[in-house]
Amino acid sequence: MAVFQSFGAAETVTGSCHRLQLGDGTALLVDCGMFQGQDEVRNREPFGFDPKAISAVLLTHAHLDHVGRLPRLVKEGFSGRIVATRATMELAEVVLMDSAHLMAEEYRTRYKKAQRRGEEESVPPPMYTMEDVSALYDLPITYAEYGETIELGHGIKATFRNAGHILGSSSVTLEIEEAGRRVKAVFSGDLGNRNDMVIPPPEPVAEADALFIESTYGDRLHKGVKDTEAEFRRVVSETLKRGGSVVIPSFAIERTQEILCLLKRMFDAKELPRCKVFLDSPMAIRATRLYDLYHTSLSQMCQRMLRRDGSLFAFSGLTFTQTPEESRAINDEKGCIIIAGSGMCNGGRILHHLKHRLWNGANTVLFVGYQAVGTLGRRLVEGEKRVKIYHEEIVVRAQIHTVNGFSAHADRDELLAWMGRFSRLEKVYLVHGEPDKQALFVKSIAKELGKQAHIVKYGETITL
Ligand SMILES: [Zn+2]
Ligand SMILES: [Zn+2]
Repeated sequence: MAVFQSFGAAETVTGSCHRLQLGDGTALLVDCGMFQGQDEVRNREPFGFDPKAISAVLLTHAHLDHVGRLPRLVKEGFSGRIVATRATMELAEVVLMDSAHLMAEEYRTRYKKAQRRGEEESVPPPMYTMEDVSALYDLPITYAEYGETIELGHGIKATFRNAGHILGSSSVTLEIEEAGRRVKAVFSGDLGNRNDMVIPPPEPVAEADALFIESTYGDRLHKGVKDTEAEFRRVVSETLKRGGSVVIPSFAIERTQEILCLLKRMFDAKELPRCKVFLDSPMAIRATRLYDLYHTSLSQMCQRMLRRDGSLFAFSGLTFTQTPEESRAINDEKGCIIIAGSGMCNGGRILHHLKHRLWNGANTVLFVGYQAVGTLGRRLVEGEKRVKIYHEEIVVRAQIHTVNGFSAHADRDELLAWMGRFSRLEKVYLVHGEPDKQALFVKSIAKELGKQAHIVKYGETITL
C-alpha cells in the first residue's frame, strides 16, 4: 500500500515537501521547499524522514518554497534522481544560487557582529552554499515534457502537465501499481491564474484516486484582469506625463515578466509616453532570458511577441542593467520606469532607487505584489511618511500606489473549475494553504462539487 505524508506546506503555504512510500520501502518526494516568513526556523529542523532512503524527488516548479531545501537534502545523503521540466531545473538554479548568496551575506554580517561580542561560535553556518547548489546538478536528472509519461521503476509512472503558475510549473500525476492494484495520485503543484498574460492556463487532469491540491487562495476571488491592467496603465501614464518616474518593486520570476509584457503591449499600442525602462535586477534578467529560451511553453500572446533576436519582451527604450555601475547611472535619469527587486523592498537594488526617488512628489512607487508584515514595502503601503534606508532618513513624498490584481495563483473559482474538469475524482486533500482559508475552501468544495475534502496535517499518514 502506498502511504502519503506531508513534511511541509501542511496547514501552511511554505516548505512544500510531500513523501510517498510504497510497501517495498521505495520512497519519492514531491518538492523539497523552504519554509519562509514566520515558519523560517523550521528549515533547521530534521526533515522527518531519512534523505538517504528517498529514491527520487519530483519538482513541481522552481519557487523557493518548493525547491529551497533540496541542497540540504543532498548534503544529508540524498543521492537519487531529480525529475522536473528543463525550465524548472534552470530556473531553480537561478533561485537557489540567489538564495545561497543571500544566506552567505547574512552569515557574514551576523558572524562579524557576534565576533565583536566574542560569541561567533553561536552563529549557525548557512543552510547551504553555492557549491552545495552545484552538487545538486551532479545528480541524475530526468527532464519531464508536458504530457509524456516517465517510468520511474518500482511500478511508478509520472506525468507532468502545465500548471499555469510560472515558467516550467507542473501538476504531477503518479500512477502506482502495487500487487496488482493501481492508484492514481495527482499533485496539483501551485496552480496558475487563468488570466496570466505570460503562462497559458493550467491543463486539466482526467482522473485521480487521490488529489493533493494547493489551497492558497481557496477563500477568495481575484480582481478582474481588465481592471488591473487598466489601473496599471493609468498610474504609469499619469506619472510619466507629470515628469515623474515610476519605481516598481518586483519579484524576479513571473511578476517581472508580466510587467514587461504589459509595458511592451503599452509601447506597441503607443500608450506608453516616451521614456526609458530599466530592468535593474541581475536575477530577473537571468529569469527573463529563460522565459525567452522556453518561449514555446508560454501563452500564445507571448509567443507572438518573439523577435528575430530571440527576445520576447524587448522594445526600444527597455534596458537590462547588469552591473552596479549601470544601476547607479539610473539615478541621473528623469521620467523613467525602474523595475527592481526585492519585491517587498527588504533588500536588493530597489533600496537605492527608493532612496533616490521617494522624496520627490512627482514620482510613484507602484506595488504589484503582496507586502509581508515587517518589510519596508509594507511600511510604505501603510503610509509611513519617513523611512530609513541605508541608515539615512528619507521623507516619503512620492505617490504610493498598489495594483492588487496580479496573482500567479488560481483563486477559489479557478481552483473549483480545475477540479470540476476531472472525469473521475475520488478523494481530495488540501495542502499549501492557511487553516482558516482551507476551512472555507472545504465548504466551497462540498457545496460546488459535493466532495468532502480533507485538510492534510504535518506528518499525518494517509494510505492511498
Ligand atoms: Zn509557486
Ligand atoms: Zn508555493
